[in-house]
Amino acid sequence: MALMRSMLLAASQNVWLREHAVNYPFVRRSVSRFMPGETLEAALAAARTLHQKNIGSVFTHLGENVCDRDEARKVTQQYLEVLDRVHQANLPVEVSVKLTQLGLDLTSDFCFDNLEQIIRRETPSATVWLDMEASGYVDATLDIYKRALKNHPNVGLCLQSYLRRTGKDLADLLPLRPAIRLVKGAYKEPADIAFPKKVDVDESYFALAQEMLCAQSAGECARAAFGTHDVTLIRRITDFASRQGYAKSSIEVQMLYGIQRAEQERLAREGYRSLVLVAYGSYWYPWFVRRLAERPANLWFMLRNVFAS
Ligand SMILES: Cc1cc2nc3c(=O)[nH]c(=O)nc-3n(C[C@H](O)[C@H](O)[C@H](O)COP(=O)(O)OP(=O)(O)OC[C@H]3O[C@@H](n4cnc5c(N)ncnc54)[C@H](O)[C@@H]3O)c2cc1C
Repeated sequence: MALMRSMLLAASQNVWLREHAVNYPFVRRSVSRFMPGETLEAALAAARTLHQKNIGSVFTHLGENVCDRDEARKVTQQYLEVLDRVHQANLPVEVSVKLTQLGLDLTSDFCFDNLEQIIRRETPSATVWLDMEASGYVDATLDIYKRALKNHPNVGLCLQSYLRRTGKDLADLLPLRPAIRLVKGAYKEPADIAFPKKVDVDESYFALAQEMLCAQSAGECARAAFGTHDVTLIRRITDFASRQGYAKSSIEVQMLYGIQRAEQERLAREGYRSLVLVAYGSYWYPWFVRRLAERPANLWFMLRNVFAS
């Protein structure tokens, strides 16, 4: 399993595969399990359906490592248009952005300016989320997040429980009253940086989750959101919250579109905050292969699509 994950994560960075694999119909059919379509219209239609089930959405326009200023400006402009459309439609949709898509590889100031335009366009009651990318970007992402938080309380950050440093990062952030989305982590990282064993990643997640919930209850964490499909872990977190007397409505779980749909709906029905991250856009190859790496059984699903009509 670990070897398969490693191979898939290496494949997610392979330029040749990125340029060629996307053209195979069976790959495109498999992707449709995780995204409603490549267009904003498809994402909006998905958000409407989710809203009917009392599930909110977080939109992400797929793309990363943009090294051209005009391209990063174009992405920023697209996010501004998305927010306008979402506000017009009066849908419960937030956005989550990758800083390398907004030009972090160019300069930090340029990336920050792009991010700030997006935050300014968002309504103060909704959060603009920052994804966390590979470990080499963590310091730069934290710097930009702290800078943004000074003037904009409605910006949230993803932290990864597989990183050994995350306990300290969370402790450093709490005095700033952050909004945090906790995930396990999706990139290939060396053992001195990230826990190699799943059991340690899960325990780290649970410890951080308890800290976030206590901080939220004490008013030190603006929003504690749990980005996971791990039903056992969600149960442990909700049991902990219930023992502490925290309201169900203060527990927020975010999942990816198409994964654990029944659990997304159960959480919403039972009074928890349930949100779904809806990805769209044409640059889906690295993102899709990371989804395969999370659950290599998805590979069989993809292979079955080779034979589907
Ligand atoms: C809302 C959201 C935002 C995220 N943002 C980031 C980010 O900014 N940075 C980052 O590094 N990572 C991000 N991730 C990905 C995350 O780091 C994990 O790689 C991913 O969520 C899988 O871990 P898990 O918590 O679901 O637990 P796992 O232990 O991997 O999975 C638990 C169970 O969930 C199901 N499952 C999990 N993944 C899949 C899948 N791909 N297909 C089918 N079933 C699956 C399986 O049943 C599995 O047994 C995000 C995830 C979510 C849900």
